[in-house]
Amino acid sequence: MTRSRNFLNAVNGLSSRVGLFIASTVLFGSLLVGSSLIAWRANVQQQELARLNSATIALLRDAHRIRLIALEALRGERGYLLTRDPEYLEPMLEAERALPGYMANLRSHIDGNEENNRELQRLGDEVQSYFMDLRTVLVLDKAGMRKETIDIVRTGHARNSINRINADVHQIITRERARLSEFNARTRSVNNILLMYLFAMTGTGVCLLFTTSLTVIALRRSIARERAFQRELRYIAQTDELTGIANRREFLAALDRAIALARRNQSQFSLAIFDIDHFKSINDTYGHAAGDDVIRRVARLAVGTVRACDLVGRIGGEEFGVLLPNVDMHHARAICERLRVEIQAQAMELSGDATVPVTISSGVAQLDPSENANKLMERADRALYEAKHGGRDQVRLAA
Ligand code: GH3
Ligand code: MG
Ligand code: MG
Repeated sequence: MTRSRNFLNAVNGLSSRVGLFIASTVLFGSLLVGSSLIAWRANVQQQELARLNSATIALLRDAHRIRLIALEALRGERGYLLTRDPEYLEPMLEAERALPGYMANLRSHIDGNEENNRELQRLGDEVQSYFMDLRTVLVLDKAGMRKETIDIVRTGHARNSINRINADVHQIITRERARLSEFNARTRSVNNILLMYLFAMTGTGVCLLFTTSLTVIALRRSIARERAFQRELRYIAQTDELTGIANRREFLAALDRAIALARRNQSQFSLAIFDIDHFKSINDTYGHAAGDDVIRRVARLAVGTVRACDLVGRIGGEEFGVLLPNVDMHHARAICERLRVEIQAQAMELSGDATVPVTISSGVAQLDPSENANKLMERADRALYEAKHGGRDQVRLAA
């Protein structure tokens, strides 16, 4: 009872470990999927960051160029006004020609940023009107309107334009840098999440390993317990409780097996049945417990007298059977005779210093290949009956 409860407890313990193992596996699987998604997301983010980085560098370069072009153009215009040398106008014309290209580049780099797009529009308009002002000054100068030209230059209009262009460019660069650093922070946080996932995965992996080991150990223990339990059940089912030898059921099963083996090997086989004489009077005189003691001693003596390959079983209250493979009935009779003498010679001591004389009567039958176990048992039984009627304490062979 206690054993079966222990077994059930072990099964319950095992199922809770298996539950833990399944939960760890599910957690590990989810983390694996989660971290794969995050890793993919981090990879996309890294690529976007790299693209954004190179776009920002290109944007800084182009914005700086536009600033230089504006200054270059102003220097060319002033040089021309002072020297009348048309060579000074060349950088300005060159700058005007190159400007749309730089603006287009700039636009392509800040694509997607609405505020910067508006800023760029303003910068484009500013640069356009700045160049138009430079041209107006040149046209006035060429028309000989020297005084008006000098007045316009004195207003410092061009310097103001340059300052505004600088401010616009600065604005664009600042905003772009802010966008980049914000993106950088986002990428860092994705990377941090990925790192956390990896830590969690490592932790769960270790737990999983641990629970797997525990589950395997528990499983092995449970299997061992179950085997021991089954062994015990088998032992209980096959063994006589009082004497510890084979019970009637196991004895009859062994008899069937032994007969099948003898037939297959065409070998001899004998069956002996013996019974304690006047056992009832032992019970009546000395009590039931003393009777039990006698049964136990007789069983022990019988097991000690026969060969290791012979099987002794308790087939009734004080009745025993002996399977004797590879033995003919004469040899079997000799064995039973030896056992009879052995038991008779033993003065069975009982509690309270009393001794009781014990004798047995035996019936022996040799297997006829044509008969079955029942028939063989019947013949041995009849021989035992004859031994009883012949005066007890003797061995009789079956006809
Ligand atoms: P016989 O010489 O003809 O065999 O006489 P007997 O008295 O031995 O035979 P009988 O069949 O009349 O009595 C057998 C007795 O064995 C009856 C029963 O009460 C007793 N008995 C059966 N099983 C046990 C047991 O397990 N323990 C004890 N102490 N007695 C048992
Ligand atoms: Mg008897
Ligand atoms: Mg009997």
